[in-house]
Amino acid sequence: MNPDVIVLGAGLSGLAAARDLAAGGADVLVVEARDRVGGRVEQTRLPDGRLVQLGGEVVGRAHTAYLALAAELGLTLTPSYVAEPGAMARATPEGISAGDPPHWFTGGDDACHRRVTAAFTALARTVDPDDPWSHPEAAALDRLSVADWLRGEGASPGVVRLWEIGQLALASGSYERTSLLAALRKNAAVPGSGDGDHYDYEDWEGLRVAEGSATVALRMAEALGERVRLGAPVASVTVEPGRVEVGLAGGETLTAGAVVSALPVGPLRSVAVSGVSDERVASLHRQRQAVAAKFTAAYDKPFWRSRHLNGLSECEGVLGSTWPQSEGILSALIPPERYGVLLGMPSHTRERELLGDIARLYGDDAHQPVAAYLRLWGTDPWTQGYVTQWTPGDVTGVGPLHATHEPPFYVCGSDQWVAGYMEGAVRTGRAAAKEALRRG
Ligand SMILES: Cc1cc2nc3c(=O)[nH]c(=O)nc-3n(C[C@H](O)[C@H](O)[C@H](O)COP(=O)(O)OP(=O)(O)OC[C@H]3O[C@@H](n4cnc5c(N)ncnc54)[C@H](O)[C@@H]3O)c2cc1C
Repeated sequence: MNPDVIVLGAGLSGLAAARDLAAGGADVLVVEARDRVGGRVEQTRLPDGRLVQLGGEVVGRAHTAYLALAAELGLTLTPSYVAEPGAMARATPEGISAGDPPHWFTGGDDACHRRVTAAFTALARTVDPDDPWSHPEAAALDRLSVADWLRGEGASPGVVRLWEIGQLALASGSYERTSLLAALRKNAAVPGSGDGDHYDYEDWEGLRVAEGSATVALRMAEALGERVRLGAPVASVTVEPGRVEVGLAGGETLTAGAVVSALPVGPLRSVAVSGVSDERVASLHRQRQAVAAKFTAAYDKPFWRSRHLNGLSECEGVLGSTWPQSEGILSALIPPERYGVLLGMPSHTRERELLGDIARLYGDDAHQPVAAYLRLWGTDPWTQGYVTQWTPGDVTGVGPLHATHEPPFYVCGSDQWVAGYMEGAVRTGRAAAKEALRRG
């Protein structure tokens, strides 16, 4: 029997779509290239029982689709690193500073920062996150980088540096190469419920699933059971009237009435898609991802606390940031601008060098983790990135077809939301399922 719908990819998005399709009465099959579900959410367990998240980890109070799904799955939300006591550190070539303001801020920088932040959030309020193309200045805002806009607003070098080190910490690509329109769209999608900052940590990162971030995917896959097929890379999708053929890399062809692509934009470029308009495919192929890696070091105890630090840092080293994942476990991101430096390190020295960055922040205890993990997501063949990235011109280039469907070809995945994230995966996955069910 052919399924009604084939879902490509068993990440959060594909699983959320498949779960809703199955609940809506559709016969669904999920095909996944890897031998595990979850995609960019992945976890492992230490011998002492602690879970370690190797991919997506934290969510925020504004991530309503994700929070609703977690509740439906019976999972518990708990405060993330934002609850950790102590000061945040910033590491630059000149040294380490703890707390605010950063050591490079001069007298007028604080007022300047508040002024440009207010200008940014006011401008963001003029952008419709669902239709940024309708903005009267859309093309001009998209051509400009956030850093160029900041300088145009008279931001001091210290303020540009503060925004940039924060962006490196998120690892989603330098503000020198980020479209202003994309940044405004992201801000408009989560309109400031916080203190008016241009990135509110409580909105975006203040919570985590206590049972483990990857447990969200595992729970959904468990319920779908044999409707998830692992080790099945998709090589082609052929759409014909009333019928879709999905060709697997092994040569097998699967047939269904509709297909939902929940693949990241990188791997999707290697899938031969036919029977879908050139414009739809071109828009998907125009999207890009920021290339980043995640390093996780697990310790017996949160030793940074003895220095009155909270484990949260923004860095200009190979690491872009660190934060406490859970008791004694530190997460760290290597941003796109440093990914080449990481790959250039002989592989047997990488862990030592990254622990050296952490030791610079928090002391020599950093050299003695009970376990450490480096996940090169940027060069993982089934991810080829980390989160969606919008360089100047990309919002216009991708155009209003972003996240749209061409039934019976539906698209979802975190890249199909404004800024990636687990929220984007769940939100677009459920929306694609709803639309496919609506059209029968
Ligand atoms: C290191 C890291 C840290 C992150 N931190 C956070 C965070 O703290 N908070 C947050 O909200 N988000 C975070 N994210 C982003 C978040 O994890 C992702 O946006 C989200 O999980 C993506 O879900 P998805 O289903 O859209 O894509 P994916 O999880 O990438 O799923 C796509 C699936 O498709 C499969 N696939 C690919 N090609 C093929 C093919 N040809 N055939 C069949 N299957 C294929 C893949 O194997 C994968 O399982 C992080 C991501 C990374 C990598």
